[in-house]
Amino acid sequence: MSDSGAKTLIFERNSNPVPVNEREALLQNPGFGRVFTDHMVTIRYTEGRGWHDGKIEARKAFNIDPATLVLHYAQEIFEGMKAYRLPDGGAALFRPDANARRFRNSATRLAMAPLPEELFLESVRSLVEVDKDWIPTGDGAALYLRPFMFATETLLGVKPSAEYVYCVVASSVGAYFKGGASAVTLWVSENYTRAAPGGTGEAKCGGNYAASLAAQAEATQEGCDQVVFLDAVERRYIEELGGMNVFFVFDDGSLQTPPLTGTILPGITRDSLITLGRDLGLTVREEPYSIDQWQKDAESGRLREAFACGTAAVVTPIGKLKGRKHNFTIGDGTAGPVTQRLKAALLDIQNGRSNDVHGWMDRLF
Ligand SMILES: *Cc1c(COP(=O)(O)O)cnc(C)c1O
Repeated sequence: MSDSGAKTLIFERNSNPVPVNEREALLQNPGFGRVFTDHMVTIRYTEGRGWHDGKIEARKAFNIDPATLVLHYAQEIFEGMKAYRLPDGGAALFRPDANARRFRNSATRLAMAPLPEELFLESVRSLVEVDKDWIPTGDGAALYLRPFMFATETLLGVKPSAEYVYCVVASSVGAYFKGGASAVTLWVSENYTRAAPGGTGEAKCGGNYAASLAAQAEATQEGCDQVVFLDAVERRYIEELGGMNVFFVFDDGSLQTPPLTGTILPGITRDSLITLGRDLGLTVREEPYSIDQWQKDAESGRLREAFACGTAAVVTPIGKLKGRKHNFTIGDGTAGPVTQRLKAALLDIQNGRSNDVHGWMDRLF
């Protein structure tokens, strides 16, 4: 329908949208993931028939049978991406093709029907156009898109579902961490790991998050903001946080991040920062880094800065690390200059303030 920009999705406008004054009040201080827009996308899949029944309609609850497969065996994947308001009032997505590809890879790993990348792109672009009034303005504000897919066959037998629902909802968001750019304290988990070789670590699936929550609860109990996981084999090498990749900055100006060996989620922010780091003339290594080396380098001053990164939290400085055997501060415990430069370089592109030399912005209107 021309009204939504969609080619294959039928558009049914929400006849009872949130009133304008209420929406504007919600957009004043949206927080993260609690303010939702008026519409959603759904597309159904059935074995034999393929993808069908694509719709943009009023956001509403699902009605599902208690024996729906996803409720029992967690066959579910998702994506996270943002639409940014541009200085001229337009809007753009950041590297949505990379999200579409990763979504397909996650589906393959979870033995789900892969959604064609063109359909993924059409779904997110159309939803942003329909709900464009929900894109907030201001520093760190964006329309967060949550494409996801889950197994909908009614069955208690263990097998890949023969039916799926793909859905996209959108949420107006402000900064992810309360307090904005201030540094976070990490808890290094020794009781739990996030992902093992051959597991689902590189797939963006809800199950990985479910497995990380006990470790995150331990971090909170220890007075820390986030958990950082070690590798499951040697319990020595830094992998990532529950939902963010991690970078280290050294005194020679070089950057390092753990390599993608199958247990780490291949972040699009991670990939973009590797490129932006090299643009700034920095050496960037994708190499393992051990927790003991991190402590040693932080104490000697060879390690100057560390930060976490992802779509939701952008670039978040790491100030301190704690654990049963570790306790140290990175630099002076606040955001360092390289962290700040990389964050600014990324946000300048995403907010349309600098030249998009890599062609990452997907302009919608
Ligand atoms: C989504 C995610 C990230 C960050 O990926 P981006 O594409 O940069 O948003 C990092 N780690 C995990 C576990 C994730 O789920």
